[in-house]
Parts: sequence; C-alpha cells; structure tokens
Amino acid sequence: MLPELSILVRLQGIDLEIRKLKKEQDELPVRLNAVEKRMAEKQAEIDLLKDKLADLRTRKTEVEDELELETERLKKSQQKMSSIQNAREYQAVQKEIEEIKKANKEREDEILQIEEEMEGLKAKVAEMEEDIAADEKEALALKKHIEKASADLNRKIDSLASERDEVAKEVKPDLMARYRFLSDKRNGVVVAAVDDGTCSCCNMSLPPQLYNELLRDEKVMFCPSCQRIIYALKNQ
Ligand SMILES: [Zn+2]
Repeated sequence: MLPELSILVRLQGIDLEIRKLKKEQDELPVRLNAVEKRMAEKQAEIDLLKDKLADLRTRKTEVEDELELETERLKKSQQKMSSIQNAREYQAVQKEIEEIKKANKEREDEILQIEEEMEGLKAKVAEMEEDIAADEKEALALKKHIEKASADLNRKIDSLASERDEVAKEVKPDLMARYRFLSDKRNGVVVAAVDDGTCSCCNMSLPPQLYNELLRDEKVMFCPSCQRIIYALKNQ
C-alpha cells in the first residue's frame, strides 16, 4: 500500500471512531425525551381531570344551594298545613310538599353521585401525580447520567480530534480535499480495499486494466463506480 494511503486509512479509522462517539452522544437523550414526553402527556391528562373536578364541584354547590332553598320552602309549606281549613287548598299544599320532597330526594342522590365521581377522579389524579413524581426522579437520574456520559464522550472526541489533526497534516492537500468530499458522501468510509478485482465497498468489479494498474501500487487510484480511494488487498 502507498504510504499516503496507509495514513488515510489511519485517518479514516479515527474519523469513524469520532463519528461513532458523536452518534452515541446524539442518542444519549433518547430515553430522557421519552420520559419527558410521557410526563407531559400525564400532566395534560391530570389538567383535564382537574377541570372536570372543578365542574363537578360547581355543579355540587348549585345542587346544594337548591336543596337548601327547597328545604326552607318545604318547612314553610309544612308549617302552613296546620292552619289550612279548605280541603282543596290542603290538597294543593300537600301535593306541593310531595313534589318538593321528591325533587329534594333527587338532589340528594345527585350530590352523592357527584361526590362519588369526585372521589374517583381525585384518586386517579393522586395516582397519576405519584407516577409523575416517579418519572421526575427517573428524569433527574437520566439527566445526571447524560451529563457525565456526554462529558466522557467529549473528552474522548477531543483527544481523537487532536490525534486526527496530527495525522491529517501528513496528507497532501488535494488528497485531503478528496477525502473530505467523499467522507461526507460515503458515511466516512472513503478508502476501500479491492479484493481480487472487486471493490469491497460497492462490490463492483474493476476493469482488468485498471486492476492491473492498481496492483502495481504506483499512484493513488479511485473506484470507477463509487469513487472511493482504492488499494489492492493482495499487496498487503
Ligand atoms: Zn467502489
């Protein structure tokens, strides 16, 4: 292999390692993001339940006020009964009393039903708030982990980057330009071994004449198909 190619292979190795570490770094917050999303969803649901609770509370107060007023009216009607002489009037008041009692019974039932529903909702909210508290704990632990892991990765990346800069100095500018250009296009794999006439990266066979030239190992050559910088594996 040409000396400048072995330098490029070394450079590529460092660059691929840097890529891998950066990808690891990008993926660090994935779990945290999922936990935070879950928390936001739960919080939205809690907000809805709390709105519903507020509506129920309002309705309960309404019914309680009605019940209080109607209970007063009932008392007055009952007091009136003793002073009524007229049978028709007596019947009318009696009917009114029955109606108030019936309506109040319905009000009491509704209040009980609302209270029951409110208890259920409160329990659900409490349960979800506990879940969120657990999620918060998990999120905090994940944040700490991410901070540490990210700092570790940064240190490794920095150290590789300075090593890379040193190695890159040994590469001629035109070859370096080609390397950079291909590196972006080919996911960092720029230098390809050619095994028995076939490019190991794109699997295309080199024309025999080109392959023979490559075997002579005299100059930097490129795969006609994927444009990568190639070297013959047989010459290793
Ligand atoms: Zn190729």
